[in-house]
Amino acid sequence: MTLPYAEPLTVIDPAELVIPEPPRRGEEGGAPCFPCDEGSDANLIWSDAHWTLHNPGRTGLPGSVWLASRVHFDSFADMPAEVASTFAGVCGLVERAVLALGDVGRVHLYRWGDGGAHFHVWFVPRPLGRLDMSGPYLMAWEDVATPASDAQIAEVGHRIAAAM
Ligand SMILES: [Zn+2]
Repeated sequence: MTLPYAEPLTVIDPAELVIPEPPRRGEEGGAPCFPCDEGSDANLIWSDAHWTLHNPGRTGLPGSVWLASRVHFDSFADMPAEVASTFAGVCGLVERAVLALGDVGRVHLYRWGDGGAHFHVWFVPRPLGRLDMSGPYLMAWEDVATPASDAQIAEVGHRIAAAM
């Protein structure tokens, strides 16, 4: 795997610590929670009793989708037991649906949690044969990839929803 940048890269020092950290979206004092806002339904492609699946607003890797819980909680640490009991199953459904698009080498599942305080995970397909984009470098490549059009994102999302 390689980064999508020419060598030599130079090492920089980390920034100053920011403590206390500022509130995230959905936390007291932060911006409103996006998944709890009705506006998040605009990119909804599938849902069941516990989960909603959404197209990204922008991606250079069509087939990327994000899965959110219906109820507001932050992370695995406070995930209600009845929601937790369905998590692995729904992840399997999403992974199979993204793989069914074809020409997908692997489907990576990311849980970052730095932006918003409403539980959500990302599924991101690594294109088949793109071993240079393996592992954690996939998102660096996504960052420099040509963004897919809104129509491409919608069409791929429709295929994923149909396979769920
Ligand atoms: Zn929320």
